[in-house]
Amino acid sequence: MKELIDKLEKEKNLSKEEFISLLKINKEEDIRYLNEKAKNVRDNIYGKKIFIRGLIEISNYCKNNCYYCGIRRSNNKAQRYRLTKNQILDCCKEGYNIGFRTFVMQGGEDAYFTDDIMVDIISEIKKNYPDCAITLSLGERSTESYRKLKKAGADRYLLRHETFNNKHYNKLHPKELDPENRKRCLRDLKKLGFQTGTGIMVGSPYQSTENIADDLIFIKELDPEMIGIGPFISHKDTPFNDFENGTMESTLILISILRLLCPYALIPATTALGTINPKGREKGILAGANVIMPNLSPKEDRKKYMLYNNKLSDGEESVEGLNKLKKSMLNIGYEIVVDKGDYIKIKNNY
Ligand code: SAH
Repeated sequence: MKELIDKLEKEKNLSKEEFISLLKINKEEDIRYLNEKAKNVRDNIYGKKIFIRGLIEISNYCKNNCYYCGIRRSNNKAQRYRLTKNQILDCCKEGYNIGFRTFVMQGGEDAYFTDDIMVDIISEIKKNYPDCAITLSLGERSTESYRKLKKAGADRYLLRHETFNNKHYNKLHPKELDPENRKRCLRDLKKLGFQTGTGIMVGSPYQSTENIADDLIFIKELDPEMIGIGPFISHKDTPFNDFENGTMESTLILISILRLLCPYALIPATTALGTINPKGREKGILAGANVIMPNLSPKEDRKKYMLYNNKLSDGEESVEGLNKLKKSMLNIGYEIVVDKGDYIKIKNNY
C-alpha cells in the first residue's frame, strides 16, 4: 500500500487498477501514512493558511428531481424561498466586514435567476467589492449563459459531476438529466476561463469502488481548480431516505488521494463532512483540505436549504461562529486568512 501512495505522490497519477487497489486501503497505519503525505503536500503549497468562502444559498426552488437531494422539485414538504438582490447584497456586506473575500452564490436550478438577473447581481457585487472573487454554483446552464456570467465578473463555478459513470449517474438522477450535458457544462466552464470546481458524493447509493476510480481519472483529466467532496447523507423526504450514509473515514481517504492527485487544488472540508461528524471539518483539513465555506445566508432561510438530514447551519458552520471556527483551526495549527484565495500553480515545484 505504501508503495502505491508513494507512486501517487511522485507521479500524481495512477492507473485504474492501481486506484482500485488504493481505494481498498483499510489498515490504520496506511491511512495515517496517506493522510500525513497529503497534509504535507498541502502545507508545502498553501502553508498553514485556510481560505474561507462565504456561502450564500440564494434559492431552494429547483426544476430538477435528483433522487438524493432534499430540495428536489417533488419534495412538497420543502418550504421554498428565494433571496432578493438586496438580501444577497446584505449578505456580502456582512461577510466583507468580517473578512470574507469570496462570495459563493449557490442554489437550486431556479428559472427566476435568468442571465439578466444574475448579470445584474454579479456586476453590482463586483462594483462594490472589486477585491473579492465571485463563485457561482447554479447548476447546468447553456454555453451562452456561462459566457454572460463570466463576462459580468464571475470568477469561479462549482458543478460537481456527481459520478463519471453514466449508468451510475442514471441511478442517481431521473432520465431527463443527461450526464453528457453535465460534462459539457464542465468543459465549457474550463474553456471560458472559470476556476472550475467538480466533485462527487462519497458513498452515494449504488456507488462502486470502480466508479470512484473512474471519478479520479475524470478529475485528473479535467484538471479542476477546485474539488468538492462530502459524504452522501440521506434526506427523509427523498426516494433515497432509506440508504446508508457515506462515512467520514472514506471521505478523508478521498480528500488525501485528491490532494496527491491534484496538489494545487482548492479542496474544502465540506458542510456534509462537518455534519456527519463533529470533528469532520478539522479532520478534513488534517487530511489535506484547505478551504472552509461558512454559511452567510440569512438566518431565517438557512434551515430551508436542507439538502440532507440535519445539515449544519449554525455553530462553526455559520458566519456568527467564525471566531469559534478560527479557534478550532488554531488548535490544529492552521490559520484562517482574509484572502481571495485564488488557485495557484508554481511552475516546476510540484
Ligand atoms: N443546483 C446546484 C447546486 C447543488 S447543491 C448544482 O446542480 O450544482 C450542491 C451539492 O450538494 C450537489 O452537487 C451534491 O453533490 C450535494 N448534495 C445534494 N444532496 C446531497 C445529499 N443528500 N448528501 C450529500 N450531498 C448532497
